Amino acid sequence: MNPFYANMPTTIFEAMSARARATGAINLGQGFPDAQGPRDVLQAAADALFNESNQYPPMSGLPGLRAAVAAHYSAHQGLDLTPDEIIVTSGATEALAASILALVRPGDEVVLLQPMYDSYLPMVRQAGGIARLVNLQAPDWQVTDAMLAEVFNAKTALVVLNTPHNPTGSMLNAQSLAVIADYCRRFDCVALCDEVWEHVVFDGTAHLPLLALPGMRERCVKIGSAGKIFALTGWKVGWICACPALSQAIARAHQFLTFTTAPNLQHAVTYGLGKPADSFTAMHADLQRSRDRLRAALEAAGYAVAPSVGTYFMSIDLAASGLALGDVQFCDETLVDGVAAIPVSAFYAEAPSFNHVRLCFAKSDATLDAAAARLATTR
Ligand code: PMP
Ligand code: GLN
Repeated sequence: MNPFYANMPTTIFEAMSARARATGAINLGQGFPDAQGPRDVLQAAADALFNESNQYPPMSGLPGLRAAVAAHYSAHQGLDLTPDEIIVTSGATEALAASILALVRPGDEVVLLQPMYDSYLPMVRQAGGIARLVNLQAPDWQVTDAMLAEVFNAKTALVVLNTPHNPTGSMLNAQSLAVIADYCRRFDCVALCDEVWEHVVFDGTAHLPLLALPGMRERCVKIGSAGKIFALTGWKVGWICACPALSQAIARAHQFLTFTTAPNLQHAVTYGLGKPADSFTAMHADLQRSRDRLRAALEAAGYAVAPSVGTYFMSIDLAASGLALGDVQFCDETLVDGVAAIPVSAFYAEAPSFNHVRLCFAKSDATLDAAAARLATTR
């Protein structure tokens, strides 16, 4: 076996869901909604399954979906992408893997901002890259010039950023994005922008794509996911948007990872992306209510909850809650009390004991209330 994988633990999301299934705990760990997703999008997938071809679609995606992604970003984010700059992938996970494998050469340095999504570091290492880690700081998790000054150098090939941010629910503000853009231009490197949560934002906050900043059109790889936009996480339909030089390089890696993605799901996502602009806000309005409901219940139980302006996630700040134990231990204890949660230390390279615990609030009121009642007993 490749030694790289021999000692690799199972991803925390799978591990926690397995423990939740085994113990019957309410699963607020892995991020997925307990609702079915929009009926019209599901119907479009069912219709396409019977009425359209089920043979291999073109490697870079159905032309209609590539055009729909470009049109969607023009309407929602004012971007000027063309369909040939889009590659459809099997989820954002594959988009990240293909991008990192294609753009990182052995010995290249890659700047990673932690806490970070768990697939980034293994993919960078598999490509032979060297991770340069930046620790974002609570409570705002923003990027400063001083942080990047320490890690950027002539060997930097890539910086990976994620906004809105899993696990903290924060978003990079205009100042952070300007700093990142400045370093990318100065050090001639590419930004891999994981924007899968771009539509899952609350309180009227607007998502800011780095690609829209001056000089970044040729330096950004923007990644999206239909799983997040339509609350259909199992579909695994994602995409890459990048200028021809970058997207053509990434297509070479994509062709030997998955080559293509289920055609009926591509048809359904094409339909979904073309829905009226206000339906995307409406789709996530209930989530803001769910966030507020869980927060209120946790605060009533004496927990300090960190702010969340996007994603399905909020986190309990254990230290601010007056709890002296680490996040892994806390998650072990909540599991005994009947709730699965994710220790935020799982989003760090070295997994230090950390004092934040992530909870997914994309659940029914009854589930959130029951989980909060159980968590009240963990204190
Ligand atoms: N990036 C981030 C930040 C995520 O939160 C997720 C999934 N939760 C992914 C990538 C993977 O997305 P997909 O399911 O489309 O592969
Ligand atoms: N991205 C999801 C989360 O953060 C999980 C995805 C997965 O299980 N691979 O919970």
